[in-house]
Amino acid sequence: MSFSVPKMHKAAFLRKYGERLSIESVQTPQPTGKSVLIKTVGSGICHTDVCIWKGDWVNIGIPPRIPFILSHEISGIIVARGENVPAEWKEGQKVLIYAFYWESEDNYTIRGLTNLAERPKHLGIMENGGLQEYVHIPHYKLLINADGLEDLAAASTLCCAGITTYRAVRTAMNYLVPGDYVAVVGLGGLGAYAVQWVKSLIPYVNLIGIDVREEALEFASKMVMIDAVINASRGNPEKIISETTKGKGVKVIVDTVGSNQTVKTYINTLMRGGVYIIVGLMGINLHIPIYPFVTGERRLIGSFIGTLAQQHEVVELARKGLINYKKVVTKRYRLENVNEAIKELEEKRVLGRQIITYE
Ligand SMILES: [Zn+2]
Repeated sequence: MSFSVPKMHKAAFLRKYGERLSIESVQTPQPTGKSVLIKTVGSGICHTDVCIWKGDWVNIGIPPRIPFILSHEISGIIVARGENVPAEWKEGQKVLIYAFYWESEDNYTIRGLTNLAERPKHLGIMENGGLQEYVHIPHYKLLINADGLEDLAAASTLCCAGITTYRAVRTAMNYLVPGDYVAVVGLGGLGAYAVQWVKSLIPYVNLIGIDVREEALEFASKMVMIDAVINASRGNPEKIISETTKGKGVKVIVDTVGSNQTVKTYINTLMRGGVYIIVGLMGINLHIPIYPFVTGERRLIGSFIGTLAQQHEVVELARKGLINYKKVVTKRYRLENVNEAIKELEEKRVLGRQIITYE
């Protein structure tokens, strides 16, 4: 199969922090060597995109330059490939992209910890990403075969929200025994996946869902059966959790918010030997009491995206129906309307995940 690739295509450029992305024509690159060109089918809008768009991370060098193209949740179809791309990656192949590219191997990546690479080149974060009609993928190792995923556009959300929560829940599994309580804090795009992973991978625990938005609690409850939902804006969440767990406390907390406020509040609900896993990046510094941590042997764990191997696992589980990525996607926009999607997310009006579609 061969595809006619246009010389120019449309892309959404971040030109000024906090201002509307501008839709412009850009030259379509020709892949060479180990790189491929994909025609974009879906690109998800993550909260990280909002942070980068606002310029929150400029002081840590993200994005490295403007103009810049956002989105690290990308799905598409291979339309052209470099001369050193193996034959299995044919034109027409449906793929998801592991956006967390690393430029060269190091002591982490050779052990499979691609998420901890010393020289990351994450697409949509450090390199131009998915908010464009065609995306140049620098290496075929980032491709995941998406055969069997019937909604390829929605499946793009497996590439950040899906994998990030998968890694956290896999870590959580090491600490859990039947009857334990697991709490997911924050039921947005990540939370909608996290509650599903808990139910499908560790069905023998009790699941607590926590958010400050009633509609987010309702939305997550439609995903799976949540044993207890807690609206943290009503009443004292620590007290409610204590009652819910019959004084036992929570064994594992998966915090998709990661603010000083959430950590400070929910860390007090951990039982002895309990584990607090932070995946969200909303806060800057943490202030937590040392004494209960040491004497109760509690653990605080950071969990960052997931490895390339885990991205393959996530896609396999989606293919087998253990995770419903379609239900997570609540709104689809055309690239021309991307600014609406960003505004919705910035104003915290989004349930689940929003995506941009191209067909
Ligand atoms: Zn993300």
